[in-house]
Amino acid sequence: MSVFSKTPEVEVRERRLHSVITYNGTAKDLYEKSKSGSYAPCDRSFSQCSSCMGGQGGGVIAHIRDVALVCHAPIGCDAGMYNAALAARGTALARGQKPFSLHVLSTNIQERDTIFGAAEKLRNAIREADSRFKPRAIMVSTSCASGIIGEDIESAAEEMEEELGYPVVPIYCEGFKSKIWSTGFDSVFHAILRKLVKPPQKKQEDLVNIFNFGGTDTFTLLLKRMNLRVNYLIAMTDLEQLETISEAACSTTICETLSLYVAAVLEEQYGVPEIKTASPYGLDWTDTWLRAIGKATGREELAEKVIAEEREKYREEMEELRSKLNGKRLYVISGDSFAHNLANIGKSLGLELAGATSLHHDLHTDNPESVNTLNALIESNGDIPNFSVCNMQPYQVVKILRKLRPDLLVCRHIGLTGIGSKLGIPTLFEGDANYSIGYEGVVKMGWRIYEALQTKKLVENVARHFEMPYTDWWLDEEDPFYFEGGHGK
Ligand code: SF4
Repeated sequence: MSVFSKTPEVEVRERRLHSVITYNGTAKDLYEKSKSGSYAPCDRSFSQCSSCMGGQGGGVIAHIRDVALVCHAPIGCDAGMYNAALAARGTALARGQKPFSLHVLSTNIQERDTIFGAAEKLRNAIREADSRFKPRAIMVSTSCASGIIGEDIESAAEEMEEELGYPVVPIYCEGFKSKIWSTGFDSVFHAILRKLVKPPQKKQEDLVNIFNFGGTDTFTLLLKRMNLRVNYLIAMTDLEQLETISEAACSTTICETLSLYVAAVLEEQYGVPEIKTASPYGLDWTDTWLRAIGKATGREELAEKVIAEEREKYREEMEELRSKLNGKRLYVISGDSFAHNLANIGKSLGLELAGATSLHHDLHTDNPESVNTLNALIESNGDIPNFSVCNMQPYQVVKILRKLRPDLLVCRHIGLTGIGSKLGIPTLFEGDANYSIGYEGVVKMGWRIYEALQTKKLVENVARHFEMPYTDWWLDEEDPFYFEGGHGK
């Protein structure tokens, strides 16, 4: 069966990949159960918070330079856009590019629109986006409100495309459809693949697609040494870069969770091979990733040269770091594959993995041959006894950390970092996913961890003055997953 769906919408991850938001056990057990299909996903009967796939999708699309985004939603759905605006500005500055302003409008669906419809509002917002931003394409994202009232976005987009003479592309990302917010990434990539990507005119043998968020540019220098060019996707791109991703020599990523759908479709539809090794986090994974890139682009010797040189360049510094960090117990909380990536860096630095929590887990991948990063982590690290899946529920994270008391917490999401400090655990926020790639990235992470560990006294002091907002009953309850599977209803 084709991975690429010809329908306007891509199937949500729960149904497509049997993704789950709760699990408690060991890494190996979860992997074995995913493989055998014996894991029966269950929900929790109490949720403290969540995130919206529409917000995730919008955040990604808003970073394209000559594209405008019209959110067909109540205004509050796009409150998080200020984050995207900051991230876009930060990325532009970090990459030495001219500052970037978001081109985003909301149709501001209101109560009466949910009764009488809001198609005219949408058409007017698209015209407004055209006149304000002069984009080369307009993306239209949906929301719970537009989905529930059954707005015909497809027809409105087609009409406006004819009127304006350039692509008007719907993205179907109604928040209520999926508890896995990464489904929003799939919605965005599906819209781009369906409406913007063109069949290759010529193959660009030295071009590597790197699916990514914003942040610093660390891939360009590394791959330049293999005479390769980097196509950072999709933050800060322009329309032409998107249209020609089918011409690249291969696709790779900073996180399989972000790009497993688009990479699988590019391989299936246009023959752009997906790099099927874990992303370059940790020394061993960087070796295998560079070799895989070398193989896909006919540069195997160059890959070996870069590996040998980089290993030698950082050998002494790595020894020093390992001696400083050896045996410290690390806990990682991050999105699915990125949690595995961060944990693998810890392994390279000689840290002991006390455990990890991923924010969801895809039991399958779109392309069955894609790398399974959980398995890659088990192979490099051995089993991880305290492994859980938890979609960012602070009430559970608090209990997990209180129980395990790691020496260090590394979080990818800033909202969770405060929990570590309040518990007296030195905590590192890993906001820029590019920062820790490759050999240099491991060393930089090592020094940041070393510095974070120096905050021990400070965070212990913070913890002494902090009172948890939970009842004694919850804090004394043994099981952080008490509400799993309907328990506690
Ligand atoms: S879940 Fe629905 S209502 Fe909430 S932000 Fe997302 S689209 Fe808007």
